[in-house]
Amino acid sequence: MVGRAPAGSLGGMDAYLDHAASTPLRPEALAAVTSVSAEVCGNPTGAHGPARRARRVVDEARDAVAALCGVEAGAVVFTSGGTEADDLAVNGVLDAVAERTGGHDHVAVCSAVEHPAVLEPVLHRGGHTVRVDHNGRVDLDHLDAVLIEHGDRVAVVSVMAANNEVGVVQPLEDVARIVRRRAPDAVLHTDAVQAAAWVDLAPIVASVDLLSVSAHKIGGPKGAGALIVGSGVAVAPRLRGGGQERGRRSGTHNVAGIAGFGAAAQATLAARADTAARVAALRERLAAAVTATVPAATVTVPAEVPQLPSILHLCIEGADSEVLLFLLDDAGVAASAASSCSSGALAGSHVLAAMGVAPERAAGALRLSLGWPSTEAEVDHAATVLRAAVERTAAFGAAAS
Ligand code: PLP
Repeated sequence: MVGRAPAGSLGGMDAYLDHAASTPLRPEALAAVTSVSAEVCGNPTGAHGPARRARRVVDEARDAVAALCGVEAGAVVFTSGGTEADDLAVNGVLDAVAERTGGHDHVAVCSAVEHPAVLEPVLHRGGHTVRVDHNGRVDLDHLDAVLIEHGDRVAVVSVMAANNEVGVVQPLEDVARIVRRRAPDAVLHTDAVQAAAWVDLAPIVASVDLLSVSAHKIGGPKGAGALIVGSGVAVAPRLRGGGQERGRRSGTHNVAGIAGFGAAAQATLAARADTAARVAALRERLAAAVTATVPAATVTVPAEVPQLPSILHLCIEGADSEVLLFLLDDAGVAASAASSCSSGALAGSHVLAAMGVAPERAAGALRLSLGWPSTEAEVDHAATVLRAAVERTAAFGAAAS
């Protein structure tokens, strides 16, 4: 059975195909956020009844997030979201190494297609990127070469579990094998923010030391996330203060947000395999409809490449993403080009550039991303609207030239 998004949360759209940006609250998460906001006033660090109640809420959510990630509860460090978890992974490891060695010559390494939440901290600290192939999969030979070159100066390596723009899944076991051989002291981090809703994280977590997740990508509220920290992995806190999260992340807990995160984690885990299979079929239906009716559209990542079941990335020749998104929005379809700056304006995609997609093809990029409440009716509607929108952009182009 398909669950329903809370009434009105899709903004009156006929088809919401931007779940990779944010997916609606699951009913269980909405209930948890609402009831905890109304009924739990205590600060979890206190000693009285209301504080103990808040602590119980956080502990239960911790158990649920740990179960989703296939780890012990003690490994979960709650954060304000995926960005903070990624920042804590990269900067926290670099800071821990600097504190231990008294030097600042260690660096981070990441793939060239990481989310800016990883890429920016890595580059800010003078780190290095690893190339990807034309499908967006990390180039293992280049990873090997980068680690040979920088060897014992590498403190942390970050390679995402699945990409947020094109959905490609990275070969983390191979990455881990190379990192353990070439940089045995380095910490291996993966950003599993996009993967968590769709794939079993247990094998991933077995290969890495740190893993990031975010509540609003799995049907929880915005503003909650976690970094999973393997035992014995040194991560210096970015936020110092009251010593919450065993000193790894100070600040009063976002109790209602964490409760919603826990409820979403539980609901996601219970239905993950079934939802992934159902959504994969929807994605196939959408891809078939679009490729049959929009000759200018090509699927960016071929079906045989490991990828999430939820993301259909297209490059539409001769189209302009910005115009296309406007026309889709106008016709009740929410989609994305996947690459925008904080002002919401479109910027060139570093992911497509790293994959070697020509700028004129990348200019017509479109990400259609499905989620737990997606339906056949939405997919069929989106395919029809997309065809009409592409025809209109082609007509614009012809009139302009
Ligand atoms: N990492 C990936 C792969 C993402 O897709 C996102 C959000 O788009 C983030 C990190 C950032 O997560 P948050 O929005 O919770 O800060």
